Amino acid sequence: MSSKVLDEFLNENIADLKDRGLYNEIDPVEGANGPKIQIDGKELINLSSNNYLGLSTDDRLKKIAKQAVDTHGVGAGAVRTINGTLDLHIELEKRLAEFKGTEAVISYQSGFNCNMAAISAVMDKNDAILSDQLNHASIIDGCRLSKAKIIPFNHSDMDDLRKKAKEAVESGQYNKIMVITDGVFSMDGDVANLPEIVEIAEEFDLITYVDDAHGSGVLGKGAGTVKHFGLQDKIDFQMGTLSKAIGVIGGYVAGKANLIDWLKVRSRPFLFSTAVSPADAAASKRAIEILMESTELHDRLWENGNYLKEGLKKLGFDIGDSETPITPCIIGDEKDAQQFSKRLYEEGVYAKSIVFPTVPRGTGRVRNMPTAAHTKEMLDEAIAAYEKVGKEMGLI
Ligand code: PMP
Repeated sequence: MSSKVLDEFLNENIADLKDRGLYNEIDPVEGANGPKIQIDGKELINLSSNNYLGLSTDDRLKKIAKQAVDTHGVGAGAVRTINGTLDLHIELEKRLAEFKGTEAVISYQSGFNCNMAAISAVMDKNDAILSDQLNHASIIDGCRLSKAKIIPFNHSDMDDLRKKAKEAVESGQYNKIMVITDGVFSMDGDVANLPEIVEIAEEFDLITYVDDAHGSGVLGKGAGTVKHFGLQDKIDFQMGTLSKAIGVIGGYVAGKANLIDWLKVRSRPFLFSTAVSPADAAASKRAIEILMESTELHDRLWENGNYLKEGLKKLGFDIGDSETPITPCIIGDEKDAQQFSKRLYEEGVYAKSIVFPTVPRGTGRVRNMPTAAHTKEMLDEAIAAYEKVGKEMGLI
């Protein structure tokens, strides 16, 4: 028999979310998550994945993943610190360190648990964390887990950061102070002001942590936001994911050898959760090599991003101030944004609406993630659908 209290809690809260239009329906993708997808038997141009370089369906990665299954099996068999560390994990971490230009790298099962792991392994209740107000949920949860005092600063507001860093230092209350930010903010495609963050960090001796989930593979000729600004020696934690541009799954921190050593003995998902599968590790390593060999995919991603942006801008849509291929189309009213996305779907384009509380009230949008795998024809089709729906709804 199930708990009555639990049933009441679940039923009431699910009904409430549905009433407020905040219940997220899941649309299973039938087949691969490529530039075109199939949902419910319908073929759609996919503008909602983080598969920036199209690597999740790349033949070179598929081949190496299959080989890894043959040589190493389907599971790592244990946590990293018992005997789940396979040669493939070590090779992946070596490649990542070369790619990021750091002494060492530790990898995890996902970007989300990487943030939970790494922040809480270093920061504790006697510390403080200055955190950009728009940081990703996994950063927020990692900060909470650490029990450090969380001091949010206004989004990319360097005066506010400097003021709060000064106050934190002068209070004399904290042993260590960290500043933490996304490298690229995924809702607007804007880039953190890392040069000024580093300047402030140097002035107040702050630990620096950059979550580059959306910058890796995209900025710095693929090596990420830190490389883009030439700050490899100035950022303590270069965190990244293997699930977006890299096309597979996993997360990592690149940094100095002593930091990575510490994370290997103190970060809990490394100690207590089974390592990523051989196929994932092998495919991620191959993806990193592809990025190091050539900027072809990176260049195509930017070309496609610029093409889509130009197309939507010409039609008169507000595409915000994105500095990356991420292309928001800001509609405003939440219900209009949802309706816009629904109509695009009917016209054969999958582009999800993003509304409050993920973005501020009144800035409901449809967010487009063009990738290197899209063809110009696909983008033209998407732009035509935008034009049709935009006119129909009186938005352009
Ligand atoms: N950080 C940021 C900024 C992200 O956008 C995401 C994914 N949404 C993550 C971390 C988590 O990464 P993963 O999906 O690999 O767990």
